[in-house]
Amino acid sequence: MPDLITEPIDDAELVRRFPGQPLSHDSAAHYRGRLERRLLINRCAACSTWHHAPQPICPACWSTDVVPTEVSGNGTIHLAVFLYQGPAAIGVDYSTPYPVVAVELDEQPGLRFTATVVGSPNDAVAIGTRVTLDWIDRAGTPVPAFRLVASSAS
Ligand SMILES: [Zn+2]
Repeated sequence: MPDLITEPIDDAELVRRFPGQPLSHDSAAHYRGRLERRLLINRCAACSTWHHAPQPICPACWSTDVVPTEVSGNGTIHLAVFLYQGPAAIGVDYSTPYPVVAVELDEQPGLRFTATVVGSPNDAVAIGTRVTLDWIDRAGTPVPAFRLVASSAS
């Protein structure tokens, strides 16, 4: 496992670390967070509303006081798809097929983050399943993923 980034990196290095990703002024903090294995989601300092993908203005109150804030990474699978084909990507095996889930994060109803699932067979990946954030390594760069949480069903 590579060393975590301990010093801020400049924009050029950030672009080099995330080829093909939608880097912008609004999303740069999110991607810098990934290098520290912290999932940063923008939150409005005026009304506390979270939103993702990163935008410069709060969608609830139009404040520009938007602060990248770390989330717990805990949530519930809202949508699950299994990709049988797609663009070639390091660490992606479509023959499995490759699972992708949209997880509704515990921080706020409707706040969703999309990533793959690790550590479970695909038939265990179902809508309504509880998950927690994990990180995988792809070409030396941390990538957020979700891991199923063992059910303590009541
Ligand atoms: Zn707001």
